[in-house]
Amino acid sequence: MKILFATQNQNKAEEVRDLLPEGFEILSLEYFNFTGDIPETQSTIEGNAIQKVNFVFDLLKTDCFAEDTGLIVPSLGGEPGVFSARYGGPERDPLKNMEKLLAKLKEKNSREAYFETVIALRFGNRLETFVGRCHGHIAKESAGDGGFGYDPIFIPNGYDESFAQLSKSVKNQISHRANAMAKLISFLLDHHSISGVAQ
Ligand code: IMP
Repeated sequence: MKILFATQNQNKAEEVRDLLPEGFEILSLEYFNFTGDIPETQSTIEGNAIQKVNFVFDLLKTDCFAEDTGLIVPSLGGEPGVFSARYGGPERDPLKNMEKLLAKLKEKNSREAYFETVIALRFGNRLETFVGRCHGHIAKESAGDGGFGYDPIFIPNGYDESFAQLSKSVKNQISHRANAMAKLISFLLDHHSISGVAQ
């Protein structure tokens, strides 16, 4: 089964490839000669995932899925949330994003946080969404050089190390993205006769 993952984010593409069971293959946007930007201007994570998948589906006329992820800190009223990528400024610098979050959390008692991924799948006129979450807390300082984004400051429940310190295989067992991908894969397996999704 081959399916297009509509993302320009190589970190996400790599993680998703590692999450696929045998028999699945991810096609990239480069495969379709698309190298432009995909808009994400909605006010929710789900809205952005749907906007991305509809944009790419309408452009390439190919069944595909897209995802949007945010880090949610309840003691900060849900920040950075849908603004996770540009929390520290428009340049989308992960170091600035983490610095801002660590500074804001200095005043707070609770450092509880969770990642949320919404995957949107578009096939023909149908749209399905799949949500995955991973709960944990924000460390006092960053640690580790694996992963990407906020991984160096996120410690998942049940572990004492950040996602950037833990191995890829641990992250891929418990992450928000792994959780949402498991739901997508199960859906695709149940609907493998849908034209265009499965080939
Ligand atoms: P977006 O989904 O590409 O808009 O990403 C939102 C923000 O969350 C970006 O700053 C990403 O780097 C960050 N992010 C997305 N997924 C992860 C993850 O699995 N770990 C850490 N940060 C992530």
